[in-house]
Amino acid sequence: MDNKGYGLLVDFEYCTGCQSCEVACKQEKGFPVEQEPWGIKVLRLGPWELPNGKWEFDFLPCPTDLCDLCADRVAEGKRTACEIHCLGQCLQYGKIEDLAKVMAEKSRKMYIFRQ
Ligand code: SF4
Ligand code: SF4
Repeated sequence: MDNKGYGLLVDFEYCTGCQSCEVACKQEKGFPVEQEPWGIKVLRLGPWELPNGKWEFDFLPCPTDLCDLCADRVAEGKRTACEIHCLGQCLQYGKIEDLAKVMAEKSRKMYIFRQ
């Protein structure tokens, strides 16, 4: 399926860093466990103290160049593998315009990945 105009909304505010998305993607794509390559990789930001006294500590699920937005699954009407296995509901596949509306409601700690 042509994924033009579609993307993956990543809402990392409640990402726990559990790495289920990494594993689900590896299983879907047949990538080896605990070594390269990854279709999505969870990165860590912090922990460190900010000048305002708050602490920064976030996990950022980051799709790689190998992410094709689960083109085969989507063509069969299925949800993306990482989306299904994320208990934190941090990942959402959809049309960019629809995802942008979700982002407009909540602008912090979110981004849209597209190919
Ligand atoms: S959308 Fe599919 S290919 Fe992309 S990161 Fe998620 S599971 Fe991997
Ligand atoms: S995006 Fe979801 S599955 Fe991936 S590390 Fe964060 S909480 Fe876990």
